[in-house]
Amino acid sequence: MLYNDIELTTETYCDEMALRAYVFKHFHHLMTPLERRTIEYTTPIIKDSDHWKVKRLYGFLEDRDGHVPDEEVIAAFTIPYATRKDIAIDRLISTCTDRIFVNRCPECNRIARTPTARQCMWCHHDWH
Ligand SMILES: [Zn+2]
Repeated sequence: MLYNDIELTTETYCDEMALRAYVFKHFHHLMTPLERRTIEYTTPIIKDSDHWKVKRLYGFLEDRDGHVPDEEVIAAFTIPYATRKDIAIDRLISTCTDRIFVNRCPECNRIARTPTARQCMWCHHDWH
C-alpha cells in the first residue's frame, strides 16, 4: 500500500497512513466538487483557459460535479498539492464516517486493500 510515495509494508504498517491511503483511493467520490477539481488534477481546470484540452475537461467536470467558479479553483491552487490533499482527506475522515466503510481484517484488524477485499494483504488471512 502506497501513501504519499511511502510504501507501507507489514513491518512498517501505520493505521493512520493506511486509513488515509484507503480513503483517498476508494472514497474520493465523497470529495466536494472543488476538492475533486483541485486534487484529481495538478493544473487548474478553469473556464478561462486558452487550451482546448482544458476547455473540454472543464465541460466534463462541470457536468460530472457541478459548477465550480474559476476564482475558487485558482485560490485553491495557491495551497501546495500535498496540503490540499491532506485537508480533503482530513475532512472526509472527520465528516463522512457514516459513508466510509473501513474494511478491516477480522484476524489482525489492519485495513484491507479495498472495501470488498476478503483477503488481508498484511497477514494473508482469508475470510471468504
Ligand atoms: Zn490481517
